[in-house]
Amino acid sequence: MHPRSIAAVAAGKASARGLRLLRRGGTALPGLVALRVDPRLAARLGRQLGGGRVLVTGTNGKTTTSRMVASMLEAAGRPVVHNREGSNLMRGITSALLARSTLSGHLRDASETAGLFETDEATTPPAARALRPTAIAVTNLFRDQLDRYGEVDTVAGLWRQALAASPKDAALVLNADDPSVAQLAEGWSGPVIAVGIDDEAQAGGPIGATDARWCQACGGSFRYGQRFFAHLGHWSCEGCGRSRPAPDVRATAVRLGLDEAAMEVDGLGELRMPLTGLYNVWNALIAIGIARTLGLDDGAIRAGLGAVEPAFGRQERVDFEGRSLRLLLAKNPAGANQVVRLLTALETPLHVAVLLNDRLADGQDVSWTWDVDYEFLADHVARCWVGGDRAEDMALRLKYAGWPAPLAVEHTPAALCDAILRDTRPGDDVFVLPTYSALLDFRAELVRRGGTAAFWQN
Ligand SMILES: [Zn+2]
Repeated sequence: MHPRSIAAVAAGKASARGLRLLRRGGTALPGLVALRVDPRLAARLGRQLGGGRVLVTGTNGKTTTSRMVASMLEAAGRPVVHNREGSNLMRGITSALLARSTLSGHLRDASETAGLFETDEATTPPAARALRPTAIAVTNLFRDQLDRYGEVDTVAGLWRQALAASPKDAALVLNADDPSVAQLAEGWSGPVIAVGIDDEAQAGGPIGATDARWCQACGGSFRYGQRFFAHLGHWSCEGCGRSRPAPDVRATAVRLGLDEAAMEVDGLGELRMPLTGLYNVWNALIAIGIARTLGLDDGAIRAGLGAVEPAFGRQERVDFEGRSLRLLLAKNPAGANQVVRLLTALETPLHVAVLLNDRLADGQDVSWTWDVDYEFLADHVARCWVGGDRAEDMALRLKYAGWPAPLAVEHTPAALCDAILRDTRPGDDVFVLPTYSALLDFRAELVRRGGTAAFWQN
């Protein structure tokens, strides 16, 4: 190992130790420190991984998909290096590798260990250059990070750069139902695993706001046979006739419950998972595609999916003084619309709290809430509460959506918790839809009141 890398490992590990002493949960700092000493450290460590190196990218679903794959690897008894939520930049990837490295810069069990790396759109090209991935998975592409990356075409362009920097025999795992993602397969000489949903019963519900999409090959517009959500479905181009590829991993007979979902997948039979929502069905299919590239057997896939634990704020259920609070992160229009779609499928009158913050991690422009189809829930919501720094803006949005007047509009999580307790009885279900920083605040308040374990202990 290069002396500079060894110095970088030492510096990174020292900072990780410091964080532990301070009992801080942050994970990106050691990687940041180490990369300052040796910018090539991620490559030097990551390329030692002999059990497969997978990049998982896409607008939504990276975290849950990666957790599903990690759970499948665990079921197969295979070691894995995984950068967890919130650290999907090079520094986070490097931190995860550092935690596995000896002081001499060698990864433990390198030959059989798999690397599972969630990558931010802009991080995907440098991650591909550094890590020489054996597989690249793309979940979906929504237009909701405009303030960070510009148009859909810009993000698709970043992914094409990542593919150009990847080994030519890397496997692509792509969502066939998303035309912008499926079209990444064009011109790729390596293996492609397309995944998709074939279940007419899931089409035709509220599809949510759709941004205009054009064929990347000819600029034509798309028409849909079955349309599941936003621009996701059985698409074909009116200009050149290109169409959704037949999926290699295909879900049929999808059944969505309150806390779990089941589906039939060719070759695997019925699969169950403790997560619901159509978006998690796509996540599961991408995870299965990745598992195939890693050579995992059907038993590990089935067991891993059945045992997956929800990621932070994704369908976590918190018992709070007899109430079941279901936390459904709604951090951007696509994510919020998927949550709306999930809730419209439930028959019962709903109790819903919506929390809106406008801090850096949330996006400071809250006009995105007007791209969320809260209208679809107007007839479903029996009681609602509104919280967060921008509670008044949210209350206004929900008033226009036709929701009943909120029982409380509160800025602090403590006051919101009090209001929910006051207005509900033990045994009630409450759906909580927070933005990212609002989720952190609200969850911290629940922890203070003994509602659940602190995130960083998980
Ligand atoms: Zn076309």
